[in-house]
Amino acid sequence: MPRLKTIPPEPKPDCSLCPRLVAFRRANKKAYPDYFNGAVASFGDEQARILVIGLAPGLKGANKTGRPFTGDFSGELLFRCLTAMGWSNGQNENRPDDGFELHDVMITNAVRCVPPENKPIGAEVNNCRPYLMARLDALPKLKVLFALGKVAHDTTLRNFGFRLAAYPFAHKAKHLLPNGLTLIDSYHCSRYNVNTGRLTETMFMEALMETKIALEN
Ligand code: URA
Repeated sequence: MPRLKTIPPEPKPDCSLCPRLVAFRRANKKAYPDYFNGAVASFGDEQARILVIGLAPGLKGANKTGRPFTGDFSGELLFRCLTAMGWSNGQNENRPDDGFELHDVMITNAVRCVPPENKPIGAEVNNCRPYLMARLDALPKLKVLFALGKVAHDTTLRNFGFRLAAYPFAHKAKHLLPNGLTLIDSYHCSRYNVNTGRLTETMFMEALMETKIALEN
C-alpha cells in the first residue's frame, strides 16, 4: 500500500505549489530584494486554544517582514486588539525580532504566499489547504477558530468537509462544528474594510469577545 505523505504545518518558504504565486514571488524578489518574499509561517503559541485564520500575506506587510500581519494596517489593528484581550506580551514594532509574543493564540493564513492584488484564486486556496489542516492538527489544545473574512471561513469548513450552506458567514457568527471546535467569524480587519466603515474597532473587539466566551464554554 502506498504510504501517505505527511504534510508539515508550515510550507517551505520556496513552496512551488502555485505557479501564479511563484511568478509573483520572483517578480517581488527583483523589485524588493530585501523583503522576505516566501511562504510565511504561522506565528504564535504552539499551545494555543485559538487559531486566527487570515487571508494571505500583504505585499509590504507579512511578505516583507516574514511574520503574518506584521508591517501593515491590518496587523496594527489585529495586534492592538489581541493585546487588549490580554493575549499578547511585549510590543508589536512591525519587525519579527521585536519580541512581541502571543499567548493562547496562533495566527495563520488561508494562503501562505502573497497574491497579486491581495486576491488569491480558488486553486491557490485549495493548494494551501493541506497546510491549514496540518496547522490545525498540530495544535493540541485547539478550541476556537477565528476566521477573518469569508475566504478563511470557507477554507476552514472545506478543510473538515463540512457543508458551507450549513454555516453561513456573518460578522460575529458563532458556529458549533460537529468536531467539537467553535468557528467565530469576523470581517477581515483590512484597511479597506475599516476605511469603508464595514468594520469598526468596536465591532472587531466584539467578535474577539465572542471568541473569549467560546473558550469558556
Ligand atoms: N497579513 C496577513 O498575514 N494576512 C492577512 O490576511 C492580511 C495581512
